[in-house]
Amino acid sequence: MKKNIDFLIVGAGFYGCVIAERIANVLKKNVLILDKRDHIGGNCFSEKEPSTKIEYHKYGTHIFHTSNHKVWKYINNFTKFNNYKHQVLSNYKNKIYQMPINLETINSFYGKNFNPRDAENFIKKKTKKFKKNNYLNFEDKAKSQIGEDLYEAFIKSYTTKQWGTNPKNLPSNIFNRLPLRFNYNEDYFNNCIWQGIPVDGYTKIFENLIQNTRIKFDTLKEYNLEADIKPKYATIYTGPLDKLFNYKFGKLGWRSLSFKKKIVKQFDYQGNSVINYPQLKYKFTRIHEPKHLHPERNYSNKSSLIIEEYPNNNFKEPYYPINDNYNRSIHRLYKQEINKMKNFIIGGRLADYAYYDMDMTISAALVKFEKINREFK
Ligand SMILES: Cc1cc2nc3c(=O)[nH]c(=O)nc-3n(C[C@H](O)[C@H](O)[C@H](O)COP(=O)(O)OP(=O)(O)OC[C@H]3O[C@@H](n4cnc5c(N)ncnc54)[C@H](O)[C@@H]3O)c2cc1C
Repeated sequence: MKKNIDFLIVGAGFYGCVIAERIANVLKKNVLILDKRDHIGGNCFSEKEPSTKIEYHKYGTHIFHTSNHKVWKYINNFTKFNNYKHQVLSNYKNKIYQMPINLETINSFYGKNFNPRDAENFIKKKTKKFKKNNYLNFEDKAKSQIGEDLYEAFIKSYTTKQWGTNPKNLPSNIFNRLPLRFNYNEDYFNNCIWQGIPVDGYTKIFENLIQNTRIKFDTLKEYNLEADIKPKYATIYTGPLDKLFNYKFGKLGWRSLSFKKKIVKQFDYQGNSVINYPQLKYKFTRIHEPKHLHPERNYSNKSSLIIEEYPNNNFKEPYYPINDNYNRSIHRLYKQEINKMKNFIIGGRLADYAYYDMDMTISAALVKFEKINREFK
């Protein structure tokens, strides 16, 4: 097989597998995919917990959501989606609130019965003194949008746990990801046209993507630049760049997560797929209950699987890039090295050192394939 490889793809996540599928089915060339893990699917891998048979996402709960028509059409060739709509709740001082902050959160937190206009005026008064032309950090920006009380309750300690630092040390643009609503809409991704969970789990999508016999997949194979595999056309690398170059310009910073699984003898533990625990007295940031991701499955067992999520700095599993100036400058140096290499293509969240949702990853892979198609047809 090693002699007959047209394209070598390193990494069996969405970026690698989508490009592999396109190369095999459109370009009709042979592909070898390598992954250092023992499974396909990258961080989207899902499997059934053996004793309860409940499907869970090993590297954190993944909700597919998009407004990109091209991506939606493409991915529906490989799976059907259920009609799951993501809702997030937050447990603050043993009371449950809606997230992102909406009219229900505001009324419940302040013990009011505001209509949307009253709530907006109320929050305007709370935020007025924090408004500035230029926000220096996350905390500055957050207080200017939701005021001090809501920030202290739901955001400050959660963010401190998630990033391992005081939010004053974080850039203001991270706060852009958290919307504020003055209505009762509780659909977390209501800005997207489509959302859902693949009915047969994520792993099945990847199996379908690489079905063509022109694609070979090898697990537990860690690629490095000394690897004795010379593809005829190109290598597509989706791993981190610092490791590829033996950290010669330094290590890129990542925030990581670990997960603690527990089986509870209750049919339904918390009534929702995820509940945030913003207070510092809890070391975890949220509890997932994956049973709720598949309402169509009618899990009949009397127990449930719950998963506590703990943020940390574990270097082995990179999750969220620490996208500050220092890390971006290191990443630029590595990219300059890549630009000097011939027929060596990079992409995906690790190589680009970027947070991409799944739809963004798929979209980027489809665009990259168009370029590959023009070049190697
Ligand atoms: C906690 C968390 C939750 C998320 N939730 C959502 C969500 O709800 N919705 C959403 O749209 N997106 C979500 N995402 C984003 C989603 O996970 C990414 O968009 C997607 O995984 C990116 O795919 P990828 O192929 O770029 O990378 P990955 O999935 O990470 O795949 C890269 C693969 O490369 C392999 N690899 C790396 N280096 C090497 C090497 N040297 N040799 C061999 N193999 C190597 C790795 O083992 C890995 O399998 C979430 C991300 C995180 C961190």
